[in-house]
Amino acid sequence: MSVLYQRLAVIGCGLIGSSVLRAARAAGLAQTYAAYDRSAEVRSRVAALGLADDVCDTPQAAAAGADLVLIATPPAAIGPMAGQIAAALAPGATLTDVGSAKQAVLDAFEAIAPEGVFAIPGHPVAGTEQSGPDAGFAELFRGRWAILCPLPRTDAPYLAAVARLSDFWTGMGSQVEHMDARHHDLVLAVTSHLPHLIAYNIVGTAADLEDVTESEVMKFSAGGFRDFTRIAASDPVMWRDVFLLNKDAVLEILARFTEDLQALSRAIRWGEADKLEALFVRTRAIRLGIVAAGQESAEPNFGRNRTT
Ligand code: NAP
Repeated sequence: MSVLYQRLAVIGCGLIGSSVLRAARAAGLAQTYAAYDRSAEVRSRVAALGLADDVCDTPQAAAAGADLVLIATPPAAIGPMAGQIAAALAPGATLTDVGSAKQAVLDAFEAIAPEGVFAIPGHPVAGTEQSGPDAGFAELFRGRWAILCPLPRTDAPYLAAVARLSDFWTGMGSQVEHMDARHHDLVLAVTSHLPHLIAYNIVGTAADLEDVTESEVMKFSAGGFRDFTRIAASDPVMWRDVFLLNKDAVLEILARFTEDLQALSRAIRWGEADKLEALFVRTRAIRLGIVAAGQESAEPNFGRNRTT
């Protein structure tokens, strides 16, 4: 793939930010790479790993002169960060992000993006439960979806910027889908946010059980519980932000889930074997469909313990 941007600036060099730097460089998508992280230690690590040509001490310095600025901080810090760098953004630059909740970012971008800057919220549906610049890897986005949630604009320069950003994600190996931000938040509430909430809850419940000691939980943890503990090890700050920013969609899906769970309790209490089996047959078919769509392997521990 040919060079798409002259200067890519990544702000926040954790798992996702550092993976973007690695993947974009591996595919030759930018001429130069700039990076900023609020931690001096992480900035040194980014320099030592050779992830960027220009490791900057301020986000404004990283953004200055960049034609693609990608914010990869925790979700609640994306809007404030965009506000901090707004004055440094070059005319014609694209401003994007990778946050897991999109309507809040879209509102923030609409409020701060200067005239002539193309603000395009984005979300790669790819991740692991690891954090920090050492956890990133160039193949993270390969075969995974990247969702872009463009603003309601139909002018040709904006559409061209969206097309270029789509090519950027394709260049890193993703399949790209465009989606309304609110719809994104509802879809991800079902596919990602609620599963994380369930994992946090079940691991918390097991840890709180008074008649089962913690060592028994560790010792006899069966596959299902182990998978939950892996998901429940995901970044606490990121997930705190996701639930607070995507509150409405998560509560809506949680209400549906609670109703369905009550129906399941009832089926167990009254020995409704057919109901239980019919559900489990249906859910097994969904799993096979996900494997067939290439989003998961039939093997346990597909890839590097991907979450999201
Ligand atoms: P991460 O590895 O913890 O990295 C977060 C980065 O943001 C770190 O560089 C951190 O700086 C910086 N940061 C934290 N709080 C900040 C603040 N208040 N202001 C400025 N910078 C701040 O997290 P990640 O997994 O890469 O997640 C980054 C974004 O990607 C999140 O918005 C998340 O929703 C999204 N995302 C994550 C996944 C996933 O599975 N992990 C998947 C898709 C999208 P320090 O160096 O100081 O810690």
